[in-house]
Amino acid sequence: MSDHNIPIKIEAIDISKEFIDDKKKVLALDHLNLQMKAGDFNVIVGPSGCGKSTFLYMLAGFEKPTTGQVILNGEEVTKPGPDRGIVFQEYALFPWRTVIGNVIFGLERAGVNNKEAQETAQYYIDLVGLTGFEKAYPHTLSGGMKQRVAIARALAYHPDVLLMDEPFGSLDAQTRKIMQRELTHLWMEIGIAEEQKTLVFVTHSVIEAVYLADRIFVMTDRPGKVKGIVDIDLPRPRDYDSPEYLEKRSQVLQLLEEEVQKSISHKD
Ligand code: ADP
Ligand code: MG
Repeated sequence: MSDHNIPIKIEAIDISKEFIDDKKKVLALDHLNLQMKAGDFNVIVGPSGCGKSTFLYMLAGFEKPTTGQVILNGEEVTKPGPDRGIVFQEYALFPWRTVIGNVIFGLERAGVNNKEAQETAQYYIDLVGLTGFEKAYPHTLSGGMKQRVAIARALAYHPDVLLMDEPFGSLDAQTRKIMQRELTHLWMEIGIAEEQKTLVFVTHSVIEAVYLADRIFVMTDRPGKVKGIVDIDLPRPRDYDSPEYLEKRSQVLQLLEEEVQKSISHKD
């Protein structure tokens, strides 16, 4: 990929984050440095507890670094904003609102007029394959469907950056594969239909990372920093069994394995 002219969208400059947990200091991130390009599907993969969510929440503006800076579009992130849409592992839908009520929520808050909000919400509901379920309540939906609602809701107010924290982590293996495929299609469609978005997707699954990413940032064990970067320049949708896919997967696994070993050895 020749990338000299593509602007840097996201930058982590020497970020450290220390939490105080039960009077004990926990260093979650230690001198994390990275750059993400505009329009890329970025995946962060790393052992459990290495600070992936912490970094994502900093990008979202929910957490502040102890030292260092998070830069978005050349400016320091200091608070949440509508330029960033978020999808969490847990569905985080409003149980008292219907599917369309959930998707429309941010638009209503932003003061978008009702007709336009309805049309936009419907567009994204269709895009994620939930046509016909507009009036359903979350408790009647499967896990995969709930995550589609969360994705539609995040996309509906046209964020520039989409942040996803292990969004398929609670799904069974088969649904997870379906969602990976659908997110790939969504990503290809969004790339054509709309201005390019930048995606930051956190997972601890290497299989998922290599299937989805343009670029994978492999993190070290806690305290997290970037251990290595692997570019995945394979055409989409990808084939989990192709030799090219398997080669990339083993490259990422190799980087990660050592870190996971360390992570296991200090957990009780
Ligand atoms: P990951 O998402 O990679 O699994 P996290 O970013 O959630 O990891 O957490 C990194 C480390 O920081 C963990 O040791 C976790 O326990 C700790 N941590 C995260 N958030 C807090 C918090 N609010 N208070 C105390 N410790 C925290
Ligand atoms: Mg996490």
